[in-house]
Amino acid sequence: MNLSILYRGDLSGCNYDCPYCPFAKRKDSREVLAEDARQVQRFVAFVTAQPAIRFKLFFTPWGEGLIRKHYQQAMVALSRLPQVERVAIQTNLSCRLEWLQQADKEKIALWTTYHPGQVSRERFLDQCRQLDAMGITYSVGVVGFKETIAEIEALRTLLPSQTYLWVNALKKTADYYTTEEKDRLMAVDPFVPYNMVHHASAGKACRTGHTVISVNGAGDMFRCHFVKEKLGNLYEGDFRTALFPRPCTNTTCGCHIGYVHLEELGLYDVFRGRELERIAPR
Ligand code: SF4
Ligand code: SF4
Repeated sequence: MNLSILYRGDLSGCNYDCPYCPFAKRKDSREVLAEDARQVQRFVAFVTAQPAIRFKLFFTPWGEGLIRKHYQQAMVALSRLPQVERVAIQTNLSCRLEWLQQADKEKIALWTTYHPGQVSRERFLDQCRQLDAMGITYSVGVVGFKETIAEIEALRTLLPSQTYLWVNALKKTADYYTTEEKDRLMAVDPFVPYNMVHHASAGKACRTGHTVISVNGAGDMFRCHFVKEKLGNLYEGDFRTALFPRPCTNTTCGCHIGYVHLEELGLYDVFRGRELERIAPR
């Protein structure tokens, strides 16, 4: 059995201050951090106790997880389990990186996001160079504000050619981009058109709820982060009975972490096994 799990626990604090983000400079209390650590450890224990399942695991915290030791330790431990094919996390890449030396580098991966205004381009690139030197695979992403396009283009010229740079498109306003701006973004990220629309998903086949699930810190299972109907609990009874193919019940799906599993888009063929950490071959 193959199972991808998107894990999002209680942690919501972040050391960055992105103006558009509700988690900017939010500080988790000591109690929240302790509970989050306990829940992450429980999740690691669960995966450890399931040798017959082939897992792909993806931490998608609200805030920044990798500045916390318990996420680093969980990533290292999970990467070393034979039943884990991949363990990845979304991160602003501000943390120290030596801990990655302890991980199975073939199996650990990072979804990194560059936030101009929060970190210098050079500092971010230096972190990327450290990952390259360690042999850690990662994608780099940037939020595609109009005023950031020139910076995105500059970053593309400075990253190694094999590093995939994705863009998260702004799509709250129709026609936010001019045709010229769209062309410039597509020159950086050939797959950004998938991210420029809300995909009509109602009634369509989506792997979530069957071979992909979302789990919170308490173990409550959902098909994805966007459909709020609870499927069961990972830690109670046989969670497998809740997993079967079912159509999407939302009207649209507009985030990579969701629509990448929408079958009609064929994105598993594009990402070739690296759909969670968003690494497209170049
Ligand atoms: S780094 Fe991410 S979580 Fe932190 S403030 Fe920026 S967008 Fe929010
Ligand atoms: S298409 Fe998107 S919203 Fe619908 S079930 Fe799949 S991931 Fe969830």
